[in-house]
Amino acid sequence: MPTIDPNRVLADLTRLRAFGAYKTGVHRPTFSDEDIAARAWFANRMREAGLDARIDGIGNILGTTSAPGRKVLSGSHLESQNHAGWLDGALGCVFALEAARAIAAERQDVGVDVVVLCDEEGHFGSFLGSRSFTGQLTEEQIDRARDRTTGVSMRDALTKAGYAGRPRMQVEPRRYAGFFEAHIEQGDTLESRGLRIGVVTAIVAIWQYKITVTGEQNHAGTTSMARRRDAGLALIRLLNAVDRRFPEVAGPRSVWTTGRITLDPGGPSVVPGRAEALFQFRDADPQVLERMHETLLALVAEANSERCPIEIRRTGASTPAVMNEDMLEALEAAAERHAPGAHMRMPSGAGHDTQYFAPLMPAAMMFVPSIGGISHHWSENTRDDDIVLGAQVFADAIARVLQG
Ligand SMILES: [Zn+2]
Repeated sequence: MPTIDPNRVLADLTRLRAFGAYKTGVHRPTFSDEDIAARAWFANRMREAGLDARIDGIGNILGTTSAPGRKVLSGSHLESQNHAGWLDGALGCVFALEAARAIAAERQDVGVDVVVLCDEEGHFGSFLGSRSFTGQLTEEQIDRARDRTTGVSMRDALTKAGYAGRPRMQVEPRRYAGFFEAHIEQGDTLESRGLRIGVVTAIVAIWQYKITVTGEQNHAGTTSMARRRDAGLALIRLLNAVDRRFPEVAGPRSVWTTGRITLDPGGPSVVPGRAEALFQFRDADPQVLERMHETLLALVAEANSERCPIEIRRTGASTPAVMNEDMLEALEAAAERHAPGAHMRMPSGAGHDTQYFAPLMPAAMMFVPSIGGISHHWSENTRDDDIVLGAQVFADAIARVLQG
């Protein structure tokens, strides 16, 4: 079994925290000066570990081992959300690197390649690094990508970073026995149960909808209640009905959210003539997703009236990414060895780079607890002993898969 170096893990994470330090977290958006410096530092750290490391034309970093035998690919992302936490992404990169180091110290025949996927946090788009690495991103899509905060084009940002013109690397799935990602949980499931390791079973799918209600814009004082056609009221009634009905068809971990409601024209003295909602739900079970979808359509049909016709359009429907059972068992066995009884299986409610690898090769994810369940905020944190335990369990699980 590989033995990790707790001080090296904590020191690497602390060093990364200095790139774009903000309060106790980091502000390290994709291709900011701090992000570019962090990438250069991490690539060097890979080289010091004996990996052949390169940064490609979209900022992905791949460090390859020279081990001739079985190999695992592992990694996460280095950039952060704006003014956010120090562990989201960085933890998975350092755990992957530490697994590579600890395993290399033990044996030379098998090894770990480490990958850093660019822009998981979506400053320029949706999973552009993972999509590039898995061959699902065109040059035209890069041409169109812009930083959602600054408006800077991805092309200009790549030029400034010095990555422009480099070839974009692509994963060779046949090279690997599987893909592993470690991540902070970003919720409070582990902490609230006093557990220390989460073994991720699946990454949930997100189904998104745009709901549009058409009413009649009119004077709020002179239009009687009997004759008005209030699109806003019709929409709120529908969303209320969804909230009452969904618990009957949803799974225990299903979540649903209305992220935006717009009333048109949106004046205090005008009956809304049009109302629009952006709605989504998430679950890891395709049957549950289908049931929620059918229920939503049925509720829309019930609410649809001549007075206020309602239209619904599905704008996105991803598939849940199911993790590989053998790799889950490797994680569970490693967790049981180092933290007996203190682990559980759970789905991931957030999206992760792993979802792009799961269709190509066996994939698995491991969570460590987030203090207070907080993430995407500078106060995000995990106890040092949970970080150290997580790094050990992670390296052990990868070693088990390398064993074959
Ligand atoms: Zn993340």
